Amino acid sequence: MNFKPRHTLENIEDVEEFYAAIKRENLTKSLSEDRPYTYWTIELYDQLNGIRGGGGLGILAADTRRVAEAMNVPLTLITPFYPRELHQRFKDGQSFDESVPVDYREFGFEYVDSVNIRCNQTLCRLDVIVKEFKSTRILAITEPNFGELYSGDSCGDHRLYQEVALGFGGYQALKLMGLKPAIMQLNEVATFFAALARLDELASNGMDFYEAVVYTRKHTLYTNHTLVQAAEASFSLDQFERFVFPNLKSKAVRKWLRDKFESGHIRLSSVTVEIAELKSGVSKLHARVANYHDLSGEKVHFHAITNGIDVPYWILPDTVEFYQNSKILDKFNLPTDIYEPQISRISSEQIRELKHRGRAFLNSVLASRPDSDGNVLNYAPDDIIFDFKRRFVDYKRPWLPFSDITRLKAILQKHNAHYLLTGRVHAGDSRMMARLNEVLDKIHSDDFLKTHVHYLPDYDEELARALSVGSNVTINIPIVGLEACGTSWEKDVGNLCLLVSTHDGGVADGPKDAYLYVEGDTEAKEIESLYARMEEAAAAWQNDFELEFWTRKQLAAFLPVLSGTRMLKDYLDYLFKSA
Ligand SMILES: *Cc1c(COP(=O)(O)O)cnc(C)c1O
Repeated sequence: MNFKPRHTLENIEDVEEFYAAIKRENLTKSLSEDRPYTYWTIELYDQLNGIRGGGGLGILAADTRRVAEAMNVPLTLITPFYPRELHQRFKDGQSFDESVPVDYREFGFEYVDSVNIRCNQTLCRLDVIVKEFKSTRILAITEPNFGELYSGDSCGDHRLYQEVALGFGGYQALKLMGLKPAIMQLNEVATFFAALARLDELASNGMDFYEAVVYTRKHTLYTNHTLVQAAEASFSLDQFERFVFPNLKSKAVRKWLRDKFESGHIRLSSVTVEIAELKSGVSKLHARVANYHDLSGEKVHFHAITNGIDVPYWILPDTVEFYQNSKILDKFNLPTDIYEPQISRISSEQIRELKHRGRAFLNSVLASRPDSDGNVLNYAPDDIIFDFKRRFVDYKRPWLPFSDITRLKAILQKHNAHYLLTGRVHAGDSRMMARLNEVLDKIHSDDFLKTHVHYLPDYDEELARALSVGSNVTINIPIVGLEACGTSWEKDVGNLCLLVSTHDGGVADGPKDAYLYVEGDTEAKEIESLYARMEEAAAAWQNDFELEFWTRKQLAAFLPVLSGTRMLKDYLDYLFKSA
């Protein structure tokens, strides 16, 4: 990936300007090198640093750290380093996963020391490794048998071990580095044990138990990315006896935790909402509808902080430069005061020129990423490309555009358009694998589709970026109410793709008329609406007026939403206003 290095805030005036911009002039007092913002995540998606995640949660973590680095905010991200990762391969038309070893030394991590946790009557040794990036660092724990991300059953012993290792091991790793967390942001409940480790440390070092709870709560933010509590894993008392209680020193903390079991089981979400006073959801809609209750049955209130992206990482450098030169984005990649009038001056020539450069980049990536049949693809600057790139899971409905093959074919034929599909199936999900094969069969059984629709294996950051910068129309059609935020559509809007989407997740932060929305009260009606929108989008690329109309609308509505700096600013505002 040959994207240029970004602008970072090198000098003190820049840093102060940013802090002034986020209206927290005393922020430097709240955070410091040895009292950083700590960001806990079971998943990080940062291939340049050797860590491949599963999807949006990991991408968000990497983006958050990169934005903090650029803005000079002291942030330590704590995560596991998984010694193995899965890659999707194709053989004789069949998709399969290959497990590949990864060595942290090859990615610039340094070994610090090791720490121990108690699991299943034995002492488990975890290696602590670190990689520093200006004001930020990735602090990881690892050991040779740590396994893969999300390996095994979500309620199983190995998953609990991974979560306990991150929490208790990661907390010890912080101390090893001489760091005290100013804030602990828990991404999803899998990171609960980090806050528990802190509570235990305070309570076993002489602080009154209730004071320790109040103190821990005040400095802990739980960020929820899941809609339904019932979908979350629960663990048994027996599992906690083997993996959790042996790591607690404080009797009072053990008792507190034991009291949280209901009929022999514990849901991590119910204790996480108790240990974190601050709680956030990842889009306006998600914060409103996430259905969580605390142990007393009260509905949990989530503060909305919509996910953003690290603009220079995901958006074509020429396009970022264009936004900055046109005074649409400032040097922090925040929208300027005049971004709206400036956006209304964007011309179709400018859009086409930037997309042509993006297309060249896409072709350069496709040269080494053949499709599932081994074809090396290459597209002319003005070919219209639709893309669908996201994990192959039910609610994202990757098969929906293939519901009526005749209709899809007619749209592609009429506009001489192409359709690129990519997205991995979660390991072991045989139902989704069957649905993928169904789609592939439909493509292969038609001579036109065979040459105009392609599946790209092993969806990852490289493909995500290449398609964002190089395609024309992106399709985002989660079942309404099921996408927490989604960030790939943000990469696409920033890269001047037309967005065909259901009104869900972060998209619903904006008004419906700002993009080509798909709707219908039955799936059949949604499919009809989808084809109509695809038709409009392809036509817009052949009509300067329409292209300008939709591009300007999308950017005006979503540039403030997609800015990762805006996201970081929102977190800092929320944390330090409340703290
Ligand atoms: C951006 C990105 C995601 C996030 O996708 P959504 O489906 O929009 O949440 C997932 N995987 C990769 C590789 C990405 O680049």
